[in-house]
Amino acid sequence: MPVATELLFAPLGGVGEIGMNLALYGLGDGGNRTWMAVDLGVSFAGEDLPGVDLILPDIGFLMEERRNLVGLVLTHAHEDHFGALIDLWPKLRCPVYATPFTAALFEAKRLGEPLAPDVPIKVLPLGSRFDVGPFNVELVSVAHSIPESNALIIRTPLGNVLHTGDWKLDPTPIIGPPTDERKLRALGEEGCLALIGDSTNAVRDGRSPSEADVAVTLRELIAGAKGRVAVTTFASNVARMRAVAEAAAAAGREVVVVGRAMARVEQVARETGYLEGIADFRTVEAYGYLPHDKVVALCTGSQGEPRAALARIAEDQHPEVTLSKGDMVIFSSRTIPGNEKAVGRIINGLVRQGIEVITDRTHLVHVSGHPRRAEMAELYAWVRPRIAIPVHGEALHLAEHGKLARAAGVGEVLLCGDGDLLRLAPDPGLIDEVPAARLYKDGALLISAETRTVADRRRLGFSGIVIVALVLSEKGEMLADPDVELIGIPEESADKLSMHGIAYDAVIDTYESLPKPRRRDPQAVEEAVKRAVRAAIASHWQKKPICLVQVITV
Ligand SMILES: [Zn+2]
Ligand SMILES: [Zn+2]
Repeated sequence: MPVATELLFAPLGGVGEIGMNLALYGLGDGGNRTWMAVDLGVSFAGEDLPGVDLILPDIGFLMEERRNLVGLVLTHAHEDHFGALIDLWPKLRCPVYATPFTAALFEAKRLGEPLAPDVPIKVLPLGSRFDVGPFNVELVSVAHSIPESNALIIRTPLGNVLHTGDWKLDPTPIIGPPTDERKLRALGEEGCLALIGDSTNAVRDGRSPSEADVAVTLRELIAGAKGRVAVTTFASNVARMRAVAEAAAAAGREVVVVGRAMARVEQVARETGYLEGIADFRTVEAYGYLPHDKVVALCTGSQGEPRAALARIAEDQHPEVTLSKGDMVIFSSRTIPGNEKAVGRIINGLVRQGIEVITDRTHLVHVSGHPRRAEMAELYAWVRPRIAIPVHGEALHLAEHGKLARAAGVGEVLLCGDGDLLRLAPDPGLIDEVPAARLYKDGALLISAETRTVADRRRLGFSGIVIVALVLSEKGEMLADPDVELIGIPEESADKLSMHGIAYDAVIDTYESLPKPRRRDPQAVEEAVKRAVRAAIASHWQKKPICLVQVITV
């Protein structure tokens, strides 16, 4: 391999947004570049993208550079870091590296999806050091809200990079070791060129509380409960799962797992040793037989997902699990922005049934897995990088992280966005752009976010559609009554006129107003009718529907 003269960084996702992480590191000499990817995640689509399940990074650039891609390293098993692997790996087919829990959770997920590809993952021990092409990578264990989160020290001939991944400082994380301070301090001694770091909580002062603090609250709440208790949390938070199990055991209760995702994580956590010493959980069928003060239901659905266990319980639609007046539901979770309404609906449904609802507004039943400002400052003091690049955040988080890094003594802060190509050495700075866009997972298909599909769908949802069919002879004579259909449009105007009638009259009037030669041109008829129908409806509604006109010539 030729001697590299440039070290590059290019985020294809996760910068300017929280989700869809995909970072590239490059070593190059002139036109030849070798790339290593870190993480391949998804974002969850909100109500503004009707019918779309997931958002994925568009990896067109990487597909073109496939021959130069030496590997993909996964930092941890959160969906925003590894959720796109099943859909996108077949387009890359590069070696994938991950620690045991991440690999096992991926395998369990893959087996749950009928057409998922077999992705050969190279499983690495925690803390290991290995080569990915010309990059030497060392895993640094960090505390987070899932087992085995890793920061990466990436050593290259042009300097060392710390890619923090998702991390926090938690002296008592319940599961796994605390963040490896010794290794990070040693990197500071060795010399760190650039720190590419988590900005999620860069606007929050102080330190985030520990998982162990949450465990104490859960223990008190469950010990004091009289009736049944249900706890909902992110399925992948095994430390929380363990805390709930220990709190239940201390109160003489058994844990029933409700929801597929929760059962899957439980199985993987047992396989990988993270629930050692915890009694087996009961399956959902046992719920009905256990006395009310002897059960804790551990449920999926903390984000208000309508098909998840908790939503069905709140609507009294769950086949096995019911709650009633005097029972308690603990939301051991944070509501992700965009999900407030869905979560609110569930809470209201529970409260109406007389169920006590506990959230993190009043009790310490959840902590974030990301560092607050004092923790970030501490990391900068240990590592002392020459360059800081804030990632994993929206614009505000990135800007605040940048200011914090400067205040911590970092000489150069590079603020960037998805698709920016930065040179880390020599002469750090923005040098170019690479193609970066989004894909939507729409049913079984991946579609480009730039096509009109979802925008059309949103328009249809906003203002409906009028469909007109006209049968004309070659001479332009109308051979049958026009067929007019309205979908998603009010039936009557304010003055009680039929909207169908308004559209129908607009079709006839327009046709009749066209000079005879024009009636022989189907396209001219289509255009004129479309414009007239939309205008006629809009004059009564103040909204313009989509209009589809078909002229059939016989
Ligand atoms: Zn994470
Ligand atoms: Zn993340």
